[in-house]
Amino acid sequence: MSGLTDLIYSGTDAVIGLTEGAVNDAIAAHGADEPIAFPDTAYFLPTIYAATGVKVTKLGDLPACVDVMKSLTTHEPEIGPALNAGLATAVGAEIIEALKYVGGANPYENEGGIGFVPDPIIRSLGVPLVTGDIPGVAVVLGKADDPADVAAIVRDYQDKGLLTTLVGDCIDQVAEQGVKMGLDYRVIPLGHDVTAVTHVVTIAIRAALIFGALEAGNLPALLEYTKERVPAFVNTFGTIGGVEVSAGAGAIALGFPVIVDFDLGDLAVPGALESETDHANTVAKSLALRNIKVKAKAVQLPVSFAAAFEGEIIRKKDCYVEFDSDHNPTVELVTMYDSPDDVEDRKVEIIGPAVPETSDELIRMPLATTVKVYGEKMQPDFESVIERKIHSWFNYIEGAMHTGQRNLFRIRISKASWEAGLRLEHFGEVLVSMILEEFGQVVDKVQVTFYTDRDLVQKFLDEVAMPRYRSRDDRLASLTDESVDEFYTCVLCQSFAPSHCCVVTPERLGLCGAVSWLDAKATKQLQDAGPSQPIPKEGCLDERTGRYTTVNEVVKEATHGAVENVTLYSLIEDPMTSCGCFECICGIMPEANGVVVVNREYAGMTPTGMTFGELASMTGGGVQTPGFMGHGRQFISSKKFIAAEGGPERIVWMPKELKDDVASRLNKTAKEAYGIDNFTDMICDETIATDSEGVLAFLEEKGHPALAMDPIM
Ligand code: SF4
Ligand code: ZN
Repeated sequence: MSGLTDLIYSGTDAVIGLTEGAVNDAIAAHGADEPIAFPDTAYFLPTIYAATGVKVTKLGDLPACVDVMKSLTTHEPEIGPALNAGLATAVGAEIIEALKYVGGANPYENEGGIGFVPDPIIRSLGVPLVTGDIPGVAVVLGKADDPADVAAIVRDYQDKGLLTTLVGDCIDQVAEQGVKMGLDYRVIPLGHDVTAVTHVVTIAIRAALIFGALEAGNLPALLEYTKERVPAFVNTFGTIGGVEVSAGAGAIALGFPVIVDFDLGDLAVPGALESETDHANTVAKSLALRNIKVKAKAVQLPVSFAAAFEGEIIRKKDCYVEFDSDHNPTVELVTMYDSPDDVEDRKVEIIGPAVPETSDELIRMPLATTVKVYGEKMQPDFESVIERKIHSWFNYIEGAMHTGQRNLFRIRISKASWEAGLRLEHFGEVLVSMILEEFGQVVDKVQVTFYTDRDLVQKFLDEVAMPRYRSRDDRLASLTDESVDEFYTCVLCQSFAPSHCCVVTPERLGLCGAVSWLDAKATKQLQDAGPSQPIPKEGCLDERTGRYTTVNEVVKEATHGAVENVTLYSLIEDPMTSCGCFECICGIMPEANGVVVVNREYAGMTPTGMTFGELASMTGGGVQTPGFMGHGRQFISSKKFIAAEGGPERIVWMPKELKDDVASRLNKTAKEAYGIDNFTDMICDETIATDSEGVLAFLEEKGHPALAMDPIM
């Protein structure tokens, strides 16, 4: 063992020396009062904050952190203490990286990597991680002897949906080999210096703070969280020096196994530090070591089919054919049939002209995607649940893009994927396979027919689809919390936020925005013992706040006793818990006697004096925080939104983009409930004011109703 521990300590000593030097230089250059911070995070220097509770805000705070590094580095020749020295290296890397941002610098502007990953991106990863849509996180570090090898490994992870982060020269190697990179492709180049590895370490650490409600300074709890709940591992390429070895020890301390591509001999530590000299086996070995299960592919296509391609954007110049409602009639509809004879299982058919095999110009065509399903347990309510998934599935296809839904959508197929052999038929195969794969519990037979003839598409749209959409809309409008007998739980996020439970009602969707009452109901049908369980709507204790004995009982059980009392409609009295992946957060603005609602995408300041990230850091992790609550966008325009505090009438400020997004629905609600016309015109936004006085002046000028309401607290 001493060979390995010696290597680790020599690396850590080097990092301590470098860090100390860099800190002293920075203080000499800028002074001890110079602020230091990563961009857009509420967690300071996250590793230091999580491990020690220290909030580093200025250069003068750093020498004490260097002392912590030294105290972690005991030079004892056992593996346990040596792993602590690895943590010291993680701290050093974090400091060195943070110093790059001093003085408002933008160190990653032309670096080829993205550097620090802001909090909102981590929050947005919450749902795909808990659903297993992102089954793991790979850290690829170093420089491969053969660039094709590392590119193939990264492509394989991408194909399997993993999130891959790159550190070092492998960034250029992978880029040269034409791998599609960026957050949208789940391949994130972090930076070329080995210290850039801190930017994935802090993702894991902030996951513990954001979702796990980890108390800052509780190092053992931090290490347990990352080990148990963050499915990450490290692959290194090429020869690695002491610094890399010691950084690797830090990874191992966090519970992330390290797989190197040279022979470690007797330095290997089974399960933690292993060799794989054959690059063809790296992926399998890594997944096995972290026990990451990747779902078998349901479809084989001439291009990749993976969730990693969901965010891919295809520009017009790269597009071969486009089915787009701006230029042609388009429609997509899933319809259930009552008899098995009505559906010809797995049949895919195109009726109308085929897409021309070659063309110098962008082709535009009409398209109807019609899907017939039959199943003994199928319900009309599930049609829209399945139909909405078309968007994701088509986007999983490499070189295909789908936006919109129903009769308003755009599908693009890229020139590259067309040349690779991707055809419309494949989209049909995707639908058949994925519907049977994901909805097999309720769907027994699937048939897909595409119409490409303009008249046929228009006729289908007018005579079949529109009436169906209308009847679904009527059904949705009639779905109120009063009209149903059951609510549902969703505990998917418990893998990251162990004491979190969403209560999903017709009028209040899950806070991630991805789980409606219909979705939860379908989930119960699909997985009887799954994450969504019914709550009988009985034992109403208080209508104003939405307090039910049954809700309390079920939530208590679902959270293993962590949460005993929860209301459906109050922000202040026992509000619902928040996991961390909420689309929006709502917080009280006492001086305006109202609330501020801010969405994850908004990076600026709010009138509460806090950014989204800072507001969000005060809630989450499955904890109830009266006065702050995470919620979905859709909920804002519901009459039930903070109904106990007076409803959406209390909203005094929202970022403009959010306000515009919810305007038509919110204005309708305000008109119906309070008789107010164009309510959103009374709501302030960042283009008007973000400071308290400015907001108040605006509200008074507009006569905002919140000013005259009962005191909110
Ligand atoms: Fe997580 Fe709630 Fe969304 Fe379920 S509904 S995935 S628990 S945020
Ligand atoms: Zn969540």
